[in-house]
Amino acid sequence: MSTTTTTSQVDLLIVGGGPAGLSAALMFSRLRRPTIVYDSGLYRNVQSPTAHTILGHEPISPEAYRRKARSEIEQGYEWTQFVDGKITKLVKSDKGFEAEDAEGNKVLAKKVILATGVRDVLPAIPGLQEAWGHRAIHCIFCHGTETRDQPFGFLLTGANAKFNPMIMASGFKLWNTLTHPKTFFFTHGMHTTTPEGLRDSGLEKFMGIIKAHPDKYEIVNDEITSVEQSASTLTLSFASRAPLSIPYILVFPERILPSPHAESILTKDLLLADLTPFGGSIAAPDPALPAAGMPRMGDDPRTQVPGLFWAGNSGSPMANVNLSVAQGQQAAAFAGESLGEEDLQAMLASV
Ligand SMILES: Cc1cc2nc3c(=O)[nH]c(=O)nc-3n(C[C@H](O)[C@H](O)[C@H](O)COP(=O)(O)OP(=O)(O)OC[C@H]3O[C@@H](n4cnc5c(N)ncnc54)[C@H](O)[C@@H]3O)c2cc1C
Repeated sequence: MSTTTTTSQVDLLIVGGGPAGLSAALMFSRLRRPTIVYDSGLYRNVQSPTAHTILGHEPISPEAYRRKARSEIEQGYEWTQFVDGKITKLVKSDKGFEAEDAEGNKVLAKKVILATGVRDVLPAIPGLQEAWGHRAIHCIFCHGTETRDQPFGFLLTGANAKFNPMIMASGFKLWNTLTHPKTFFFTHGMHTTTPEGLRDSGLEKFMGIIKAHPDKYEIVNDEITSVEQSASTLTLSFASRAPLSIPYILVFPERILPSPHAESILTKDLLLADLTPFGGSIAAPDPALPAAGMPRMGDDPRTQVPGLFWAGNSGSPMANVNLSVAQGQQAAAFAGESLGEEDLQAMLASV
């Protein structure tokens, strides 16, 4: 095994090769500047066999989509290099940024785009993580339509008390058109017979509708002890009632955190800011938005650090693939523009 390490000098380092990083790479490659893309392969939708709403690819496997995008860049732009590896250190330097990968190789980059994604922290119910992206789903646009005309369930947990009213509002506003013949509301130990349970479950506003259709809606207050998915169903076991099998449930993550692969680089030293809940910290904070509100979708790819940009879920955790692609393009355009401005200033100074 060789112990030789390399030092690459590039105009742009892109950290992350999901949709955001790949899109940034394609856009930036058009400028014919030396670029390196590091990707450690822990994609947010890695467990999901199929992706929807990606324009022109309806539906497609996320893996096939990424592979096609990357191979088009590799074939068309030899000045853009891909490395399957993890950036473990990233610091600002006088000339830009110094990065190091897990093998000890160094990258000196004038600009950096962070497209490092996020990780979803699910309720700690045994079996739920395995079902994530299959029979435990979170988004009507990503997988919801496939649940139509079948029994369905919403998982509402105490840790998500703040978000449960929003989840249930979307349940009655968006998921309602999928005509689930039976809908369960699993409150996982929150008792909707108490004022607190009713409020925290997010069901308070909808109790009139639920009670008016007892054949269609059912609230299950019991604690879920485990879930197990099979080829066609998800079986929920409870602390004190018989197990129940349904095709799909909706699960909203209890926390959305930065990718574990990016923890060592997304430091306060680099970002000049603390990470905020929802991982949205990389994007410059928008003073117009309340700290506890919906995460901003993000339209400005700059961070507070000159030369450091974000794209995709790393700065905008609610963005889907198409939005992440758009953000990647924006970040690449900003990075290219600022490099061009520096070149222009140097040219002007030299004459
Ligand atoms: C279950 C599920 C299903 C989904 N289905 C859909 C769908 O059908 N349609 C849709 O539009 N959206 C869907 N989404 C959303 C979609 O996954 C995201 O919009 C998309 O992944 C965001 O792209 P990204 O490039 O920002 O992050 P990611 O795709 O997560 O990519 C980030 C990459 O950065 C890498 N990385 C992190 N740190 C480092 C480091 N230090 N060095 C090198 N590499 C690093 C990671 O390993 C990863 O490879 C789904 C999400 C989930 C959770």
